[in-house]
Amino acid sequence: MQVLSTRGKMNSIPATKAVLQGIAADGGLFVPESFPQIDLEEMKAYAAHEYDILAARVLQYFFDMDEAALAEITQQAYGTFDDSRVVPIKELTSVDYVMELTHGPTLAFKDMALQVLPRLIRKALDIHKQQENVLILTATSGDTGKAALEGFKDVPRTAIEVFYPADGVATMQKLQMVTQEGGNVAVCGVRGNFDDAQTGVKALFADNALKAFLKEAGYTFSSANSINFGRLIPQVAYYIYAYAKLAADGRIENGQEISFIVPTGNFGNILAGYYAKRMGLPVKKLVCASNGNNVLTDFFNKSVYDANRTFHKTMSPSMDILISSNLERLLFEVAGRDDVQVRAWMNALKQNGRYEIPAETQAGLRETFWADFCDETETAQTIKTVFETYGYLIDPHTAVARCVGEKYRRQTGDGAPAVVVSTANPYKFTQDVLRCVSGQDVPDAFEAARQLSQITGTQIPPQIAGLHEKPVLHPDCVERTGLKTAVEKFISRMGD
Ligand SMILES: *Cc1c(COP(=O)(O)O)cnc(C)c1O
Repeated sequence: MQVLSTRGKMNSIPATKAVLQGIAADGGLFVPESFPQIDLEEMKAYAAHEYDILAARVLQYFFDMDEAALAEITQQAYGTFDDSRVVPIKELTSVDYVMELTHGPTLAFKDMALQVLPRLIRKALDIHKQQENVLILTATSGDTGKAALEGFKDVPRTAIEVFYPADGVATMQKLQMVTQEGGNVAVCGVRGNFDDAQTGVKALFADNALKAFLKEAGYTFSSANSINFGRLIPQVAYYIYAYAKLAADGRIENGQEISFIVPTGNFGNILAGYYAKRMGLPVKKLVCASNGNNVLTDFFNKSVYDANRTFHKTMSPSMDILISSNLERLLFEVAGRDDVQVRAWMNALKQNGRYEIPAETQAGLRETFWADFCDETETAQTIKTVFETYGYLIDPHTAVARCVGEKYRRQTGDGAPAVVVSTANPYKFTQDVLRCVSGQDVPDAFEAARQLSQITGTQIPPQIAGLHEKPVLHPDCVERTGLKTAVEKFISRMGD
C-alpha cells in the first residue's frame, strides 16, 4: 500500500519506505491511502488459533511484503512474550473486560509495536535496497527507551542509542536500561531533565557533520517514536483480535458493537482503535482516558486544543503529555482529508500552542470518541477497589482507563460490553501501586515489590526481580554538550 502525508497528500510513498523514513519530508505524518476492510469471520478463525497469525494478516493489508516474511516477523516478535496467548483477555464481569498488552519483554504495551518495528525495518532495507544501515537515536523518559532497546537488540543492520535524563527516570526504569544486553545497543545518561535529553537528540538529527560521519561509517538516522507508521499498524491488530476472540468465545454476538477504553498519552494506541473501526470492526465508542494532564478531554468536549497549561507529574507518567502527536492523523480523517487545513492547525499549535476546530468537525469526532479524565486520588482509589473487588492488580495507567470507563457508563447509561486496554504491569510502578493498595510508603523499590507480592499474592515478574543481579553495562553519563561524541564513539565501536 501507498501512504500519504497529513500535510501534503499528493506525495505518496510505499508503506515499506515510510517505515525507514519515520516522518514525511513536509513534516506531516504518514497515513494509509485507504482503509482496507476486514472479514470478521476470517479474523474469528485466526483468533481461535494464534495471535501472531492474525497480526501478520493485519500487517499484510498495509505492507507489500510476502506472507511468509510477515508471519516470521510476528512469530519472532510475539515469541518474546511471557504468555502464549500474547494478549490475554481478563473477564471482570460479563460486560467488563481487560485486554492485557503487558506481557512483552519490558512489561509495557510499547512492546506490542516495538517488537515488530525493528524487524519491519530490517526487511524494508532489503526491499528498497538501502545500502546504509539504520541508526536509531531516542531520548526517553521511561517506557519507550527500554522497549526500543529490547526490540532492536541484535537485529542485523540496525543499531540503537538511547539517551535518558540522569535526573528524570524512575529507579527501575533506569536499571532496566543500564543493564541492557545486545551487541548493537548503547545507553547513555544526560545530565539534566527530559527536555535536555530531547533537545540534545533533536540537535543530533540536524547535525550535518554528524550525518557525514555516519554516512562514511555506513549508517543513516531513523526514529522509533510513536509517529512511525510501522508502530501504528501492529497496534491495530489487538483491537481486531480482542473483538474476534470475544466473538469466537461466544461472549458477544456477531456484529454486536463494543467499546474500548484507552489510557491515552501521545494518542497512538487509541488511534489504532480508530483505524480498526474504519476497517469495519464493530466499535461503538472509543473512550479517551486522560490523567490530570487533560488537554485531550478538553479538546473532545470543547473543540479547542490548548497546550498552554500547567504540566502535572502523575503516577501515570507515560500519559503526562501536553502535545499528543498522533492526534494529527485523526484530524486528517475528520477534516475530510484536508491536508491544507491540517497544516494550518499544526502551525497554530506550533506558534500559539492552541487551535480550534469547527463545531461540525467536533460533532463528527463525538460520534466515535468520548473523553474524560481522572485525578490522582481517583486513580489510587480505583487500584484499591479493583483489587478488593476482583483480586486483580492493575497499574496506574490502566486504573485511569478503568476509572474513566466507569464515568462513561454512569454518564451515558451505556451497558454494552467494554474492554479496558491495560498498558503496563503494576510492578513497573511498584511503590505507587503498593501505596494505593496498602497505604504504605516503602522507599526501596525492590523491598516494595516484595511487600506488594506478599500482600496481593501476585508474582514479581522475572524482568523486575532479576534486575539487581544484572551487571551495569552502560555506566556512561554525559553533559548536554556530550551527545555527539557519545554517538561517534558508539558507531566507531560498532565498526570494529
Ligand atoms: C505509552 C503509554 C501510554 C500512552 O499511549 P499512547 O499511545 O502514547 O497514547 C499509556 N500507558 C503506558 C503504560 C504507556 O507506556
